Formats: sequence, C-alpha cells, structure tokens
Amino acid sequence: MILHIDMDAFFASVEQAINPRFKGKPLIVGTRGNKFNTVVCAASYEAKRLGISSGMSTREAFQICPHLEFVVAEQGKYIWTSEQVLQLVRGFGFETAYISIDEFQADIGSDTLPQALAENIQKQIYANFNITASIGVAKNCLLAKLASKLNKPNGIAILTEENLTPVLAKVPAKKLSGVGPKTEPILTGLGINSCLDLYRKSAEFLESILGKFGTNLYEGLHCEETFNSGLDLDCGSDPMPKSVGHSYTFPRASGNPQFIRAWIRLLSEMVGRRLRAQNLLSFTTHLWLSGPEIGNFSSQATSDQATNDSYELYRRVLKIMAKKGLKQPEIRAMGVSAASLTQASYPALFTEQKRREGLLKAMDRINDRFGEDSIYPAVVTFSRKIK
Ligand SMILES: [Mg+2]
Repeated sequence: MILHIDMDAFFASVEQAINPRFKGKPLIVGTRGNKFNTVVCAASYEAKRLGISSGMSTREAFQICPHLEFVVAEQGKYIWTSEQVLQLVRGFGFETAYISIDEFQADIGSDTLPQALAENIQKQIYANFNITASIGVAKNCLLAKLASKLNKPNGIAILTEENLTPVLAKVPAKKLSGVGPKTEPILTGLGINSCLDLYRKSAEFLESILGKFGTNLYEGLHCEETFNSGLDLDCGSDPMPKSVGHSYTFPRASGNPQFIRAWIRLLSEMVGRRLRAQNLLSFTTHLWLSGPEIGNFSSQATSDQATNDSYELYRRVLKIMAKKGLKQPEIRAMGVSAASLTQASYPALFTEQKRREGLLKAMDRINDRFGEDSIYPAVVTFSRKIK
C-alpha cells in the first residue's frame, strides 16, 4: 500500500505556526512585499473559505476581505519545515519519497494497519510542527494521492478493495492528478464523469481517446506495487543522484507572469539549495510545466558551465521559457530540476563562502531587475530554525 501525505495549505500553515497571532485568521502569503500589488502564493483555510485562492491578485483578495493578514513568502521556512517533516516520516521506517515541497509518499507494504499509522503520522506532524496534513492510502501512488484530497484538511481516506468502487463513484474525474482542463472535456463528452467511470475503462480505450497519457492513466489507476519514488525528482539516499528537482501543483491554473516567475524563482532556490547541500554542480537545467493550453511541456538546456547558484538556475529556466516562446502560459503545475551532475571540485567550505558572495550579488541583481520588493533569496532564512 502507498501512503500519500499532503500538507494542508502548507505555506500559510507554516506562517500560522510560526506566528500564533495568525492562527485561526484569514491569511495570505504573497510573493512580494507590497501587499496590494502582488499575487497570492498561498492562502490559509480561513481565507480559502472566503473564496480567496492562490494565483489571485492580492488586491482582489483584500477586496474580499479587507482585514486579511498578509506575509511575504520566505522559502527558507517552507523548505526547512518540508525537510523536517520528510525526516519525521522517514523515521517511521518505510521507504519514503519526496514528491513536492508539501507532499510525501511512503510504501507501507501490506502488513501495516493504515488507519492507525496515518493517525500516528498526523499526530506526530502536529506535535512537532503545529501544522496539519491530510493522508490518503491506496494500492498505488495515483489513488493514494487522490485519497489524500478527499477529506482535507486534516483528513484521512483509505481506499480498500471493498470501498474503492463506491468512493471513486463519488469523486469527479478531474480530481485525479493529471486530469486537467484539457482532458476533462474530452472525458465528459464521452460520459466519463467520475473517477469510477475512468477506472472502468480499458487501457486500449483510454489510449484511443487520450494517447500516451491514456495509457499512463490506466497504468497509474490499476498498478499494484509500483512505488514511484522518482515521480519528479531523485533525492533519496543515493550518494550521487541523477537529478535534483522540485515541483509544485497550484490549486488552479494561473497565467499571471509575476506569480509564475516567483514560483520559478522559489523552485530554483530550492533546487540550488539541495545541490549546494550535496556539494554538486549541474550542467543541465530542466523545466517542466503543465497547463490547460500547453499540456505537458518539458524542455531542458545544457550549459558548458556547471552551477549550483540558485539565481543562475532561475536565469537558465527563464531562458528556456523565452526560447520556447512561452510568454504568458496558463500554468497549473511546474517543476525545475538540475541534471548532468558533477561533484563540486573545491571543498564545501569554500563553496559556501563563494555562495554567500554570489548570493549577495544575486540579490542585488534580482532587485535591480524586478524592483525592491522581489522575492527574497532563501539565504535570509536558511539558518533560522523554527521555534
Ligand atoms: Mg498541500
């Protein structure tokens, strides 16, 4: 069985946990300091209940709720918390994969009582970080991820052989990861509305209507034992990973270039951080985007200069986008990863020193480029421990 953990309103929850003044209040996390002129990067459940969601302009959000609490995104806090939660989950002794900054998956085998385990994980996460997670358990990764969304927030859903059919019948097909605004109308047109409708179709049929994606979808729904620990990235215990990456799925698609750029910056920062932590340099930068118009876009570029500088990675990703003519795509999910890795030749200490110098310069460059309120390099918060 696969157990999928999805942190609830992760960035906003981390902010609420750090600053108890925000607990129970509608809160948004913005990508820049100017609170009326930025984008909602995350919203607390209290804000979500009012109809505020990420990707929205903060101006719009403040119109809905003038008393909204506002904080600026600080990647370091989220990366730190994410890594600590991952470690905590690994502590349960199962093979555990990092899926995205707020999602983790563990292969819990068939002898574990999933309900008790899920409750225990939730309890531990809450006790240690004062934030909640929703957990789904099912026979494979795709269904476990779906299950994690069914009882949000702080929910548990376990899909067993007995309840699979009735549960899937109640869930719209679009809830399934990968079924986006492009695929959904095709399915609806064929009378496929629920996940169960989809589940009952043959591989051949799904392939005939959705091509390769249909085959993958069938595989994803029906496979039993595949533990997809390399969904987007490889950050296991392998001393020399093939690639290092981070991805994120937004609650809804956004075409806001500021929002998209901020996220590329954030993901590049996270990738750079991981490279530096492992004393690695990367030649190849890879960008993956998914959205209603562009479908699944994936492209990479290789430079003759290896880097682990986050800003340089960010710059390389923007270059890929510009080269591919992606001006203002609507984006639902994105991933940045670094491949063609090589061990940094000089000692870590020196790297660290160089990095700090480089980062200071990078901060200046960003501020020059995007103005003073641009997203802050995580170095500001790397060393800060929560509580
Ligand atoms: Mg989440």
